[in-house]
Amino acid sequence: MLHDGHKALVVDPGDAQPVLDALQREGLQLETILVTHHHADHTGGVAQLRDATGAQVLGPAGEEMPEPLQRVSGGDTCTAMGLTFAVMDVPGHTAGHIAFYCEALDGAPLLFCGDTLFSGGCGRLFEGTPAQMLASLDSLAALPDTTRVCCTHEYTLSNLKFALAVEPGNADLQQYNVHCQALRANDTPTLPSTIALERKINPFLRSRVPAVIAAAQAHDAAMTLNAGAFATLRQWKNDYR
Ligand SMILES: [Zn+2]
Ligand SMILES: [Zn+2]
Repeated sequence: MLHDGHKALVVDPGDAQPVLDALQREGLQLETILVTHHHADHTGGVAQLRDATGAQVLGPAGEEMPEPLQRVSGGDTCTAMGLTFAVMDVPGHTAGHIAFYCEALDGAPLLFCGDTLFSGGCGRLFEGTPAQMLASLDSLAALPDTTRVCCTHEYTLSNLKFALAVEPGNADLQQYNVHCQALRANDTPTLPSTIALERKINPFLRSRVPAVIAAAQAHDAAMTLNAGAFATLRQWKNDYR
């Protein structure tokens, strides 16, 4: 939730009730619901929240969504909370997945990237190819260093466990892991992350780094049907416990 003390915006409300509780507790009016993709844990609360508050709903042009909503896709801009958001197409996790990017708020850009980029990881490839996901992640990695990465799941610690298996010698990654362990021990979120940090620690943004390529090759000499280090990493993570 993003709010200015009066109006609020939520992203991917899987459940309506926690949002309704927060609106009441803080005395806020829900103005906008942004939706990144069709999965139920991102859309389950949309209809109830829209009916209860009259909020506008903006979601992906190419996916099944609770109607009615305003459908947007890459290259579009939309306005919410008086802020301008650029819509980016980021297929891979789902075929029509979108992200919302706001150039600046309080001096740093904001990125709502759903299940595409997580801190230390990326979404599973349910409907897209490794090449599509890599292109989507490349477009996110090209955003300014200070961009705040507001992803939709707190998966950081388990992602970092895998990242350390890929790059045990990455000092930034080791440090970040210690930092995140301490945050989670206090029940504090690790999010949002930043693009600068993700470029240093996230193996899925580092699939062209020699040490990461070598680790992928050591894990799977055939590099998953020659689809490259990124595809190998994604498959490795799927099987990783
Ligand atoms: Zn999802
Ligand atoms: Zn999800």
